[in-house]
Amino acid sequence: MPIDVADIPKAELHCHLDGILDPAMLRELREEGIDLSVDEGALEAAYPVRDFESFFAWGASHASLDGRLDLYQHIARHHIQRLRAQTVVYAELFVASGELSLDPSLAVDQLAAFREAVTTYGAGEIQVELLIAWGRNRGLDRAQQICTRNLRLFDAGLICGVSLAGPEVGFPVAPLAPVFDRYHAAGVPIQIHAVEWCGPESAWDALAHGHPSRLGHGTHVLDDPRLVETLLARRIHVEMCPTSNLCTGSIARIEDHPIRRALDAGMDVSVATDDPGAFRCSMTSEHALLAERFGFTRDELLRLGANAVRARFQPTLRVAPAEALALA
Ligand SMILES: [Zn+2]
Repeated sequence: MPIDVADIPKAELHCHLDGILDPAMLRELREEGIDLSVDEGALEAAYPVRDFESFFAWGASHASLDGRLDLYQHIARHHIQRLRAQTVVYAELFVASGELSLDPSLAVDQLAAFREAVTTYGAGEIQVELLIAWGRNRGLDRAQQICTRNLRLFDAGLICGVSLAGPEVGFPVAPLAPVFDRYHAAGVPIQIHAVEWCGPESAWDALAHGHPSRLGHGTHVLDDPRLVETLLARRIHVEMCPTSNLCTGSIARIEDHPIRRALDAGMDVSVATDDPGAFRCSMTSEHALLAERFGFTRDELLRLGANAVRARFQPTLRVAPAEALALA
């Protein structure tokens, strides 16, 4: 008897604002009279995303949106509507660093307007919090500038944490350690994308130099039992994204995904879409996948949501459904 996952309360910690747009959303916005100046044919032609290169090509198909937080606000509105329809009650969204000015004062103004709009779209049914994500390949000097700006955003209460994303191969965390020391000293919660494209050594590098309390992906962490022990001992939460990992080629077959083994090993894990527009997935489809292909029960799916709410970076829960899930 398949489980109906539609009404299970859900929480998502790993979704990129610039990974959400899909052709249906583009058309819906156009019908509202909002023109994103994105070529629908080019966006359609970017599918299917099936490896790292096609994922970047998908992003390039609407690179005209880069730096246009005003346009991304419309995408966020539709995204939050969709999350509400999927009974997602808590979500953290990664805003790419490049959407904002590097000037701290300007960035505060830009993000304050976006932040206020996002709260309105949540309508008391879902709490949406913002993080800033920046790329591993940006180099130390740029990462320091981004940090100075991000610390102002954090002090202003506009973001609840930061995320290191971008190409993993050839860009270890170690050279960025001085930046992570600054975030850590300021009390800013840190998430690092790791063990998606590299082996367990990527997580060891992140743990040694980045002060993360959460890892994104962790696709190959189970290859290293000592790493699993360390993640358990340090209570590091891992945000797992099965469909994303299949679409980008991080795993060859969905059966290879470790989320079932991670849960059974007692790890603190949750499930997320990463880039639902690119991978044509949703929180509901991820839950259905886990039920159908990995035998997750309703209680286990509920536990993933509760794990996510408890691993959140925003200490304050503001909506009743998210408070209820935290206690599940
Ligand atoms: Zn990601």
